[in-house]
Amino acid sequence: MSPEPATVVSAWLDAFASALVTGDLTSVFNTEDCWLRDLLVLSRDFTTVQGITNISAYLHEADRRLHNFRLDTRTNNGGVTLAANPPGLTALFRFDIAGDLAATARGCVRLVQQTDGEWRAWTVLLVLQDIVGHEENVGRAPVHVPRDGQTWDEVWEENSASIADDLAVLVVGAGHCGLMMAARLRQMGVKALVIDRAKVGDSWQNRYPSLKLHTPTFMNSFPYHSYPATWPTYLPRSKMSSFLRSYRDALDLFVWESTELLSDPRPTYDDATKRWTVHVNREGDVRILHPRHIVIAIGLNMLPRQYDVPGMADFQGVIYHSSEHHGGAAYAGKRVVVVGACNSGTDIAMDMMHKGASEVTIVQRSPTLYVSMPAVEAMAFSHLWPEHGGAAIDELDLINNSIPYALLMRILNANRGPHELDVKTVEALNNAGFKTSDGVLYELLLTRRAGYVMDQGGVAKSIIEGKIKVKHGVEVEKFEKDAVVFTDGSTLQADVVVAAYVYAGYTAYGMLMRCRIGYDSMRAAASKLFGPLVDDLTEVWDLDAQGELQGIYRPSGHPALWYAAGDYANGRFLGRLLALQLLLAERDASLTRA
Ligand SMILES: Cc1cc2nc3c(=O)[nH]c(=O)nc-3n(C[C@H](O)[C@H](O)[C@H](O)COP(=O)(O)OP(=O)(O)OC[C@H]3O[C@@H](n4cnc5c(N)ncnc54)[C@H](O)[C@@H]3O)c2cc1C
Repeated sequence: MSPEPATVVSAWLDAFASALVTGDLTSVFNTEDCWLRDLLVLSRDFTTVQGITNISAYLHEADRRLHNFRLDTRTNNGGVTLAANPPGLTALFRFDIAGDLAATARGCVRLVQQTDGEWRAWTVLLVLQDIVGHEENVGRAPVHVPRDGQTWDEVWEENSASIADDLAVLVVGAGHCGLMMAARLRQMGVKALVIDRAKVGDSWQNRYPSLKLHTPTFMNSFPYHSYPATWPTYLPRSKMSSFLRSYRDALDLFVWESTELLSDPRPTYDDATKRWTVHVNREGDVRILHPRHIVIAIGLNMLPRQYDVPGMADFQGVIYHSSEHHGGAAYAGKRVVVVGACNSGTDIAMDMMHKGASEVTIVQRSPTLYVSMPAVEAMAFSHLWPEHGGAAIDELDLINNSIPYALLMRILNANRGPHELDVKTVEALNNAGFKTSDGVLYELLLTRRAGYVMDQGGVAKSIIEGKIKVKHGVEVEKFEKDAVVFTDGSTLQADVVVAAYVYAGYTAYGMLMRCRIGYDSMRAAASKLFGPLVDDLTEVWDLDAQGELQGIYRPSGHPALWYAAGDYANGRFLGRLLALQLLLAERDASLTRA
C-alpha cells in the first residue's frame, strides 16, 4: 500500500533538512530538472536557481540556519494537493530561520515520484514570513485604551497630524500598489504616509467608462479586507475606484490626496543621515519631508508616449492617446480609426461602435494574440486560482509563486496556439483580416505588457461580422486634412484617430526586442521626478536573466528607493515582501543607532 501523501511530504521535509546539513541534495531534488526560488530567506533579494549544481551551491550556506521544517497542516487539504501535470504532490510547509535574524518562513514544494520509487522535488519555494518580535498583525487590533480620555477619532487626528514626523516610508501613488504597501507596513508597525497628486480611486475612474478589469475579482483580492461577496466577477472601473477609497478608510491608512511629489527641486538622499529630502505640493502648500525610504508606486502606465506622425498638425479631426479616451459618446456619427489592436485598442473600438460611430477601423501592424475570456479562465484563472478550491488567497499566492517564471514560460511555450474554445473564432478572425499570433498570454503580460486581446465584450464577433473593420500589416505613414495615409499607399477618411500604441524597445531575458506599447517605462517616469539618480538603476518590469521581475518590490540599486507596481497579485504577494524588506531595513537602522 502506498503511503499517505502527508507522510510522503513529511518524510521529504525531514530528508531536505538533513540534506541541508550534509550538503548532498541529490537525494531530495530531481536532478534531471529542478528549481529553487528563494524570496528573502537566504538573501535580501529574490533569487531563482536552476539545476542541482547551482542549487547545491546556493543552499551551501543554509545548513542549520533553516530548521523545524513541517507540513503546513492548517492549510487547505492539510497542506497537500495532488498535482496533475506532472503527476505528483504540491505541498505547503513552514520552517524557522535561526541566527542573527530570527524569523519564520513558509514554502511550497512540488514532489514527483521518480522511477526508483523515491519522491524528489521538482520545484521548491522558500519565502520569508515574519521577523520574530515584529510579526505582521493579522488579527483584531487590541482594545483601544483611551489616553487622557481621548476617543478613537481624537487619537486618529493626533496620529494624522504627526504622520510626517520621523517618517519611515513615503509611498508615492495611491493606486492598489501604494495602498496595499501602506496597509502591510501599518500591520508590521512601520510608519508610512501615502501621497497622491489626485484623489484615491481616480487612477481607475479616469480611464474609459466602458473599462472592466480583465482579471477576476477573487484574483484581485486586497490584504485584510474583502470585496463585497455580491460584486461582479470582473469589476467595472467605478467599483474598483470606490473599493480603493473604502480600503483606505477601512485600513486607517494615512493618505495625503492632491499632493504631488515635486521634481523641482529634485528629491535627494543623504548617505550620512540615511534620509531623503523631498518637496511635495499639498494643495498649493509646499512641504518638505524627510522619509527614510521612498516607494515609487506611480503606476507602470504613468507616461503616455507622444504619438508623432507627419501631417498631424494638418489633420482637421481629433487625434488623441488611448489614455485620454473618456468615452465614445462624443464621437457618434464620426469615422473612427484606432491605431493598435491590443486590449485598449479593441476596448476603445468597441466603445466607439456601441456609442454610434459611423465607421470604426482598427489598424493592426502585426499579429495579435487573441484569447476569449472563457479560454483565459479555462487556461489560467480557474487552474491557477481555483476560487472554489477552498484555499485561502495567501496559500494560492504561495502555490502560484512556486513555479519560477522561467519554468512557467517553458511550460506555456510548449503549448502555444489557440485554446480549443477559441479555434473557430481565431480562424474566422484571420479570415476577416484580423491576424492572430500564437504568443503566450502570460509571457506577454510579464515582458511586453502588450500584444494580446483578452476579449471580454464580443470584439471578435464585431470584427467577424464586419461591424469593426481591420486594416492589417500597415502603419500610419502620414495624415492629410481629413484622412489617414498608410504605408501601403492606401488612404482612409477619418474624423477621429485614437493612438493605442507607439513603438518601444524592451528586453526579455537580456535580448532587445521591439514592441508597441503606448507608455514609456516606469523608470523613465521616475526619472522625470528623480532625475539621473534613477537612470542607471535596474529597469523596472520585464524579467531578468534568472526570470525574476526586475526592479519591483526588490532592491532597485539605490539605497532606500523602491518600486511597487504590477497587477493585484504582485501588490498583495510581492508587496508583503517589500514591506518585510523595509521592516528589516528599519530594524538594521535602529540596531546601528542603538
Ligand atoms: C486600461 C487598463 C486596464 C487594466 N486592466 C487591468 C486588469 O484588468 N487587471 C490588472 O491586474 N491590471 C490591469 N491594469 C494594469 C494595472 O493593474 C493598473 O494600471 C493599475 O492601476 C496599476 O496600479 P498602480 O497602483 O501600480 O498604479 P495606478 O493605479 O496608476 O496609481 C498610480 C498613482 O500614482 C499617482 N501619481 C503619479 N505621479 C505622482 C506624483 N508625482 N506625485 C503623487 N502622486 C503621483 C497617480 O495620481 C495615481 O493615482 C490595467 C491598466 C490599464 C491602463
